[in-house]
Amino acid sequence: MVGSVYVHIPFCLRKCIYCDFVSVPFDDALSNRYMDALARELSLSTGAKQAGVKTLFVGGGTPTALSAGQLGGLLAALGQALDFHPGAEVTVEANPATLDEGKAGLLFQGGINRISIGAQSFDADELKLLGRAHRPGDISDAVKLCRAAGFENLNLDLIYGLPGQKREGWRESLKSALRLGPTHISAYELTVEEGTGLWNLVKSGAINMPPEDKVLAMFEDAEEVLGGAGFIRYEVSNYALPGFECRHNLNYWRRGEYLGMGAAAHSFSGGRRWRNTGGVAEYIDILEANGLPVAETETLTKGEEKREIVLLGLRTREGVPLSLAGDTGADETGIGLERAARELIGEGLLEIRADRLRATRRGFQILNSVILRLLEGLSL
Ligand code: SF4
Repeated sequence: MVGSVYVHIPFCLRKCIYCDFVSVPFDDALSNRYMDALARELSLSTGAKQAGVKTLFVGGGTPTALSAGQLGGLLAALGQALDFHPGAEVTVEANPATLDEGKAGLLFQGGINRISIGAQSFDADELKLLGRAHRPGDISDAVKLCRAAGFENLNLDLIYGLPGQKREGWRESLKSALRLGPTHISAYELTVEEGTGLWNLVKSGAINMPPEDKVLAMFEDAEEVLGGAGFIRYEVSNYALPGFECRHNLNYWRRGEYLGMGAAAHSFSGGRRWRNTGGVAEYIDILEANGLPVAETETLTKGEEKREIVLLGLRTREGVPLSLAGDTGADETGIGLERAARELIGEGLLEIRADRLRATRRGFQILNSVILRLLEGLSL
């Protein structure tokens, strides 16, 4: 039984400079057609009803860019298609610029019990640089609205490693976030994705990204400031108070099965991965013709499964089962992996805890290269 569902809402007020998610500017007519198409996909894909849903994540894009009427329609469609397990974690992403009292109340009354707010920074200039549609004051207003509506489980997303960002400014953003009393904070490093506005600015030399050592120091700042407030880094970019880890995302990192609905949504079940078309108009057209919007399907080989276990599992504090590295049977890949793991342990970048292989604090600092070396071991 697939216990996790993701729903993609691809509308935003405007495009942020660094964003390479599938999102288009909000448009009344297009969004109405999209919401109808999404409701159709939900009913076509889940049959009578998808039973035992333990986590649902409505992301985007900006789900709160939808009108209150559209959000109400979405909640009704979700209620018809999904049967929630008692205690299910049900998250919606919200943007401080598009949340109001009515929407916050509607979401909470409609069964959403976790809200994830795209704060990104508490510095007005940094928000402007990122192209965000909100100001620092909007973040605390959004949190107040959520609290008043009844939300207790609340995440704030933050970004560090911005051009020109000072460490003191970053630490101040972390402290401002803590003052709002969230249960969870995601602290992502700003990356330059091809085709984004940021990519063009960096390529043309108009702006420079900060040096690696400064970004690394900011990564450590997050651990220090958030750790000092009782938050545990349970994934390379995610911190939670004990018991408030995002179960939906943990399911991804543990390679649990999930269904994705909406444009560009990915699914994983029965050893197969598939993704929906990323074109919003195409997605709508296909569903209006009663088709399914699947653009690509792949069945994973044993080797690919192992690569995924390493790639995803090492991002987390729990790491990967030691048996993976010790799996030398008929499969040669286990030997190379074991050798690479031993070297990384010797260098203090990996450690063994409770029969699991996981990154040390130093290993987390250079996680991409640690993972790369393990993957190279897998391909020996
Ligand atoms: S709000 Fe989020 S999804 Fe929308 S453009 Fe900005 S970063 Fe992308």
